[in-house]
Amino acid sequence: PEAITVQELANRMAEKGADLVKALFKMGMAVTVNQTIDQDTAELLVTEFGHNIKRVSDADVELELETAEDSEADLQPRAPVVAVMGHVDHGKTSLLDALRGSGVAGGEAGGITQHIGAYQVTMKDKSKITFLDTPGHEAFTEMRARGADVTDIVILVVAADDGLMPQTIEAINHCKAAEVPMIVAINKVDKEDANPQRVRERLLEHEVIVEEMSGDVQDVEVSALKKTGLDELIEKIQLQAELMELKANPDRAAEGTVIEAKLDKGRGPVATILVNRGTLKVGDVFVVGAESGKVRALIDDHGKQVKKAGPSMPVEVLGLSGVPMAGDPLQVVDSETRAREVAEYRSSVLHQKRTAQAPASLESMFSALK
Ligand code: GDP
Ligand code: MG
Repeated sequence: PEAITVQELANRMAEKGADLVKALFKMGMAVTVNQTIDQDTAELLVTEFGHNIKRVSDADVELELETAEDSEADLQPRAPVVAVMGHVDHGKTSLLDALRGSGVAGGEAGGITQHIGAYQVTMKDKSKITFLDTPGHEAFTEMRARGADVTDIVILVVAADDGLMPQTIEAINHCKAAEVPMIVAINKVDKEDANPQRVRERLLEHEVIVEEMSGDVQDVEVSALKKTGLDELIEKIQLQAELMELKANPDRAAEGTVIEAKLDKGRGPVATILVNRGTLKVGDVFVVGAESGKVRALIDDHGKQVKKAGPSMPVEVLGLSGVPMAGDPLQVVDSETRAREVAEYRSSVLHQKRTAQAPASLESMFSALK
């Protein structure tokens, strides 16, 4: 409870690990991102970076399960996780649908029937891209507020006939704050009144300088309706992913994030989990938010039962004690007793909070520092 790694703190503050290391160095501490610092130092840093400290009681800190960091040698490339943002009616859903159909390896086109909030598409070159099918700024910001940084890349959809609108600007600001790289998809270029150049110019006003304007934000003209520009968009996602060198250790106890969860009439509580690291297997015992469970079945985005799910793979998990919340972390633990203990403890704290201080801030349950 009293220690946190520099990287973890950086993640919670949405700052770069390297910047924290620099600040610590100035404070006379030579540490790397993987090293831990004590709570007092962490608090000092948080203030230094102009963030507010949300201290919760020491008991709450124990809500977090300590997990080992991975060594560089154990890391393997993983698929990028991509979210789509933009103003309403600019074509987010249409673009996701078009991209889903563009995965052609193994005759995958049209094969994804199941709605599970996220899906993985295998591209012609066999590489994979995971798309979050939860377009919506609230989902994105709320997940981030709760410390769940699942999105690697954001596709900003801007309709070429409509241009920059309030939610477009909001999305730009979210991406900047979160330091999530953006690819601008200028959509609806098939329309007569489409004016892609005007979109690029307006983006300049928000300090988004696209490649066409000699900047370094990738942009691409697409039509989700006519299915044009999609290959180019995919190439740009892959290029961005390569630059980021996304990696995870697949050979460890799994950790993941709830993308969505519901109570299913026939199957009981079901959660869509995006695996962040490790491999989730049938039979694994886990804690997820204030719930626990044992994986009874894993179902992929094609509705097929699978035995395991590795990093960046979205999967439906059956066998939960109850319905967790979107953004809740999932962690595989050693024993069912431990899983129940942690879950019960969390839910009792959750209950106390709810009754003691209204309105309870859920994110404070799971993070000592914000
Ligand atoms: P969302 O609200 O951002 O998810 O937007 P939708 O995907 O629901 O699209 C809104 C409307 O724009 C729908 O009527 C779509 O058919 C239409 N639309 C989406 N993409 C295109 C496009 O590339 N060209 C044209 N002409 N219409 C599009
Ligand atoms: Mg939509």
